[in-house]
Amino acid sequence: MEDLPRDPFADDPDDPAEALGGLEDGEPLSPAERDEAITDLADVEVFRSLLEPQGVLGLVLDCPECGEQHYFDWELLRGNLRQMIDNGQPQVHEPAFRPDPTDYVSWEYARGYVDGVIDTEERR
Ligand SMILES: [Zn+2]
Repeated sequence: MEDLPRDPFADDPDDPAEALGGLEDGEPLSPAERDEAITDLADVEVFRSLLEPQGVLGLVLDCPECGEQHYFDWELLRGNLRQMIDNGQPQVHEPAFRPDPTDYVSWEYARGYVDGVIDTEERR
């Protein structure tokens, strides 16, 4: 027999992971994950301040759980990150409803856009 750690909910009909659609991440955030969420929140605020005036409604992110892309508007992104930081709970799986993909950009695009703006301002 292999000496694997036993799922504490293996025989429990009230397995909390079941309620989350089989997700295993009902655990609280680690300090590193919390730090990352704080950094992400700061990034999101900068992205929003520069991109919202351009008509960008939010970000499209690859979902680590279902492998598809999800669209998050700025308020939802901020709310999710705040919740992770304040409550130590992982992100809620709640993408925007029927988004227009042209209104959203990727995290990488936002990052590049912000870096470009900062470069331009430094050269003035
Ligand atoms: Zn998903």
